[in-house]
Amino acid sequence: MPHVLILGGTTEARRLAEALYPHVRVTSSLAGRVAAPRLPAGEVRIGGFGGAEGMAEWIREQARHDTVAVIDATHPFAETISFNAARAAATAHVPLLALRRPGWVPGAGDDWREVGSLAEAAEAVRGAGRVFLTTGRMGLAAFAHVDDAHFLVRSVDAPEPPFPPRMEVLLDRGPFTLDGERAVLADHAIDVLVTKDSGGAATSPKLVAAREAGVPVVVVRRPPVPTGVPVATTVEEAARWLNATRT
Ligand code: NAP
Repeated sequence: MPHVLILGGTTEARRLAEALYPHVRVTSSLAGRVAAPRLPAGEVRIGGFGGAEGMAEWIREQARHDTVAVIDATHPFAETISFNAARAAATAHVPLLALRRPGWVPGAGDDWREVGSLAEAAEAVRGAGRVFLTTGRMGLAAFAHVDDAHFLVRSVDAPEPPFPPRMEVLLDRGPFTLDGERAVLADHAIDVLVTKDSGGAATSPKLVAAREAGVPVVVVRRPPVPTGVPVATTVEEAARWLNATRT
């Protein structure tokens, strides 16, 4: 049986492990950022590999016993691990697929401003009043110098400094409901929402709530998938790719 390394940390990665296991040997890899992660089916390893070379070494070790394939199902904004995966797969001569849920697209009534980075998002919200920041605690440093806006920061675990001086934290983990998101915007008198273009249904109700409430949204565009890496947009497509690599 082939051995699939799923680079995870997303809903899709967990769903993919569930779809493949136990027919396929699956090892899911998590970065270890979340204190109590939802564990996927199959084998799990937690923590960095030590760069692209460390990942290549891990793959080569497994490839002594089994054929190996890698599916990079990390978050669209986890840029470093995706580039490491591209280098490691090339070095170890194993097939690699990126699984990326489609990005969000604005609809009628949406007031979106797209920016290229968290730093640009921070500039966009200067003096903007009450900002609902949903870009994750790891990127808070980009907003640490913004002292002329109040931030409502939603994250799974409590943020650590540096973070903005005027900040309130909402500890929560998706999926989120439309009613819940409406309540957050209203209860906290939100003036602007900041989000990455993460895509997917689990966190998209905030966009609908913002449209309804006339709240503008600053959307951080995705970094590109490494050149030459094929992309699947659904778990089913990724499973088909794996089947095809086996034949
Ligand atoms: P990143 O900046 O791309 O990666 C930084 C380093 O963390 C990597 O070089 C690697 O360390 C380690 N790493 C990242 N993902 C890993 C994985 N799945 N397994 C083993 N090591 C991993 O990553 P990030 O943006 O901090 O995201 C970390 C994790 O959180 C990812 O797994 C991602 O799917 C998940 N996540 C990220 C976001 C986001 O907005 N960025 C949102 C939701 C979930 P070594 O170099 O030592 O191997």
